[in-house]
Amino acid sequence: MAPLNLVVGSGPSGVAAASALLDAGREVLMVDLGRSAVPGARPEEPEGDPPRKLALGSSHPYMSDAEAGLVQHGTKCLASGGLGGLSAVWGASVLPFPEDELAEWPFPAAELRAHYARTAAMLGISGIVDGLASRFPFHAPPAPALRPSLQAQSLLNKLTENAATLNQHGLTFGRARHAVRAELCEYDAACLGGCGKRAIWSAADAVEALKKRPGFRYQGGVRVLSIEERGGGVRLHVLPAGASRTVVDGARVFVGAGPLATARLLCGSFGAPAGGLPLLAQPYFLFPLLLDRDVPGAPEEKLHTLAQVFLELQDDAVSKRSAHFQLYGHNSLIAEKLRRTLGLAGPFGGALTRHFAPRLLAAQGYLHSDEGIPVHVEAAGRGEDCRLTLTAGSRAATKAAIRRAVAKLSRHSRELGMAPLTPLLKVGQPGEGNHVGGLFPMRSSPGSWQTDRVGRLTGHPNVHLIDSSVLPTLPAPTFTYAIMANASRIATEA
Ligand SMILES: Cc1cc2nc3c(=O)[nH]c(=O)nc-3n(C[C@H](O)[C@H](O)[C@H](O)COP(=O)(O)OP(=O)(O)OC[C@H]3O[C@@H](n4cnc5c(N)ncnc54)[C@H](O)[C@@H]3O)c2cc1C
Repeated sequence: MAPLNLVVGSGPSGVAAASALLDAGREVLMVDLGRSAVPGARPEEPEGDPPRKLALGSSHPYMSDAEAGLVQHGTKCLASGGLGGLSAVWGASVLPFPEDELAEWPFPAAELRAHYARTAAMLGISGIVDGLASRFPFHAPPAPALRPSLQAQSLLNKLTENAATLNQHGLTFGRARHAVRAELCEYDAACLGGCGKRAIWSAADAVEALKKRPGFRYQGGVRVLSIEERGGGVRLHVLPAGASRTVVDGARVFVGAGPLATARLLCGSFGAPAGGLPLLAQPYFLFPLLLDRDVPGAPEEKLHTLAQVFLELQDDAVSKRSAHFQLYGHNSLIAEKLRRTLGLAGPFGGALTRHFAPRLLAAQGYLHSDEGIPVHVEAAGRGEDCRLTLTAGSRAATKAAIRRAVAKLSRHSRELGMAPLTPLLKVGQPGEGNHVGGLFPMRSSPGSWQTDRVGRLTGHPNVHLIDSSVLPTLPAPTFTYAIMANASRIATEA
């Protein structure tokens, strides 16, 4: 029998690596905690501040901090124990990383192209070829795009009118791109709570597709406790739900448990790194914007509630790296999120958002991890007792960079046709934007607790890391498409 390749986790990185291994004729066993919603269970109430997104009323995708072994000081990082990982709740926004921002990576950025194309085939990226395409190419023909809302169309018209001036000032824009099957969308504003039509891509569906391929097996309900290298292969110590501990042997393991669960597994298996580990985080911020005109028909229309427009900013005076903005139309969930996050709860906040609803947009902004709040991760304990303590450092430089980015939009509000409501800017804690990683960065000459170009930790030749934990930097545009392309590349080269 061919040597068995083990994949830990069924999130986007796990399915991308498994698919690439199968394409290369390898046998794959995916081992996964892989929880699903309890059939027939009453919908849960969203909890947290701001409230966490649920998957059709279920919080099954998330591990609690206690379960994940996380102690967080000034961070809000997530770990998943769900089938499909965090893609069960993701916003499905998709862009590749700009190639000109990958100079620190230990291979030419062009090497990712074929893997973006393979990932695009798996995700089915809906969108149109527009002003974003030169820096952010589609690697496969786009799938049909979602219909923009009336507000978004009005905004796009204005941006197109002023494209030349905006481009001169480092601002490019386009329709948002999504891992979505637009033909299934009912425009019922339900996207942010989970799509009942399964129009939004989830790695859980990809696992179902993988199960039909020869050479693939899936074991869900299994917690991997530690990894041991022995006899030229690997042994996973695992705890299947409702059973005793056992082991799973393979030739190699590809770990895609999500950056913090992966870090816990490695530190619990191979010992805590002296001096701790750095965690990279993309700065994340949220703010409302006001359109400079009323849009007849908005906001009552039937619409989707994923990102509507992507706006990209390149201006050295703001940051040496690009900033990425995702613009959302007005809808009740966004209004509620704004009210809660911005402290506008109560009748006044309700009246305010209702009054401005036809003109109100919301933006999520992201900067490159170079501008991020530093986070230090200290590990202690072995195996399942391993705990990671995350401590955020100073926020001052990050806040200043964010303020520069928002001020830049304010300065161009006339050409943009919208103005940020800067006093309501909210800066997220590391992890709130869900884009963290870089604990074990890939390097050409890796040091201890760093990885080579195929995600292998120094001294552990059969252990490949495939999630964001190996990314040397986190450019601002959306993140999961690049993780999947990199996982596919690692699995193919390995
Ligand atoms: C609300 C939200 C919105 C988001 N929106 C976007 C977006 O619009 N665009 C974008 O690019 N990204 C987005 N993201 C981020 C995206 O979801 C993640 O980047 C992506 O899911 C990471 O994939 P992964 O496979 O590396 O890890 P995860 O998705 O975290 O999956 C980890 C997997 O590992 C398994 N696992 C963990 N520990 C163990 C263990 N010990 N034993 C066995 N199995 C284990 C889990 O069961 C799970 O299947 C969003 C995230 C959130 C939370």
